[in-house]
Amino acid sequence: MKPIKHVVIAGGGTAGWITAALLNKVLGKVINITLIESSSIGTIGVGEATIPPIIGLNNALGINEQDFIKATNASIKLGIEFENWKTPGHSYMHAFGSFGKDFPFCEFHHFWLKAKQQNHAPDLWDFSVNYQAAKAGKFAHLRNLPNTQLPGLHYAYHFDATLYAKLLKKLAQQRGVKRVEGKIKSVQQCQQSGDIQALTLESGSVIKGDLFIDCTGLSALLIEKTLNTGFEDWSHWLPCDSAVAVQSESANEPVPYTRSIAQNAGWQWQIPLQYRVGNGLVFSSRYLTDDEAKQQLLANLPGKAITEPRVIRFKTGRRRLQWHKNVVAIGLSSGFLEPLKSTSIHLIQTAAIRLIKLFPHNGIKHSQVTTYNLQSKTEIERIRDFIILHYKLTTRTDSAFGRQCQQMSIPETLQQKITLFKQTGKLTREDDELFSEPAWQQVMIGQGLEADDYHPLANALTDEPLLALFSDLKALINHTVEQLPSHSEFLSRMKNN
Ligand code: FAD
Repeated sequence: MKPIKHVVIAGGGTAGWITAALLNKVLGKVINITLIESSSIGTIGVGEATIPPIIGLNNALGINEQDFIKATNASIKLGIEFENWKTPGHSYMHAFGSFGKDFPFCEFHHFWLKAKQQNHAPDLWDFSVNYQAAKAGKFAHLRNLPNTQLPGLHYAYHFDATLYAKLLKKLAQQRGVKRVEGKIKSVQQCQQSGDIQALTLESGSVIKGDLFIDCTGLSALLIEKTLNTGFEDWSHWLPCDSAVAVQSESANEPVPYTRSIAQNAGWQWQIPLQYRVGNGLVFSSRYLTDDEAKQQLLANLPGKAITEPRVIRFKTGRRRLQWHKNVVAIGLSSGFLEPLKSTSIHLIQTAAIRLIKLFPHNGIKHSQVTTYNLQSKTEIERIRDFIILHYKLTTRTDSAFGRQCQQMSIPETLQQKITLFKQTGKLTREDDELFSEPAWQQVMIGQGLEADDYHPLANALTDEPLLALFSDLKALINHTVEQLPSHSEFLSRMKNN
């Protein structure tokens, strides 16, 4: 078994630089890291919305929040608003965090489901502090609601992905990661084992390594083009295969949430940064041509376009093995899930952490590889199911795309979740599942899935105390949100102090 001393990262997009920065931060004393990137190829240049664990990543890397917000043109994200997904004109939000107040063994939404059965339920989102702050355009750091144990605001960021990669690059290089500019031209493998031994650049330089991390994006140069690992295609469940992206001016102050607007053959994103908006249309090429997609997107921008619309083609699914021989694929090379829940950057973060936890310093063991691959598979499949849920629950019949989504078969694991919720009002979360019960509840309830029952503990509160609880919580949340500064005030304080 060959000890692993020299790690080579092929590719310097968000995946390459997050991986380099994290590996260096934790293992920098025992390994050396070389990252190869090609400015002539460039990066995918999208990926601007995140989910709350990004805060942990920045903390782990020692990136101060204010420096980060300044450097990446970032704004705050409190959730994702889904417009027209259920029916045209309808909207709901997947707001981060939870609702109201949980009781032992019985989450808050069971009390709401009980009230709903009795026809006196207020709006569920009255009890989400994240939703109320998002729609009021407010933000401050708020761990708990004042003078209570009730959870406060959960947040993530919208940011300029190119600037973020630049920030990470600077940090990683300062801490000892060696960067090599150049295009990888060929890959040398050991004839016996098939392991990769070195990468040869167009310049003729040869970069040797013990472990190679494939961060070459959709081209998957090492894991697929060299090792032919294979791809599990999920496009029968996630029918979009293309996106067109464009940046625009902002007409208004940035709102602290992402907008996801259902269209006749896909959906449109609006990601508000400090000085501009990232826009895109994710669509199925079966129902829309590239030109139609561009026209549809340009007709629905919040301000004047400031870049040329760019079409990106993708295939949804996962690489059959994320780790094969001495190659670990991280980022787009490892698989692709469309950006509906902004999970790709998160998957880079968890993949890098998983690799650190299982790091093969004494040589690669079969048990490490199989554990890594199993964990990666489980993680991405659970996220896949959550994304499919949005499509499956649409009740739109005004387009062939919408009808296809309603009629398609879905994975057994997702069907089980839907049936459990429908019959009992309950949801279960596996130990390390990314999305929490309130996240699933919001999409299910928001898109009109009615639960037939609720937890019996909700009967512990009779009507009067239940209504009093609702009214107290609502008043507390409204009062708290009123006191918060606006999102724009928060951002200017960050930028100008
Ligand atoms: P890339 O950015 O493509 O980087 C690949 C790197 O490899 C580049 O440095 C390139 O130069 C290098 N390279 C490739 N070939 C060679 C070679 N032969 N020699 C040398 N270097 C090479 N994620 C989110 O979390 N949130 C979002 O909102 C989001 N939105 C998205 C929207 C769309 C339409 C798409 C397609 C993706 C989105 N993603 C999003 C995903 C996100 O963009 C990626 O996960 C992220 O940018 C990481 O990409 P990457 O680093 O794997 O690949």
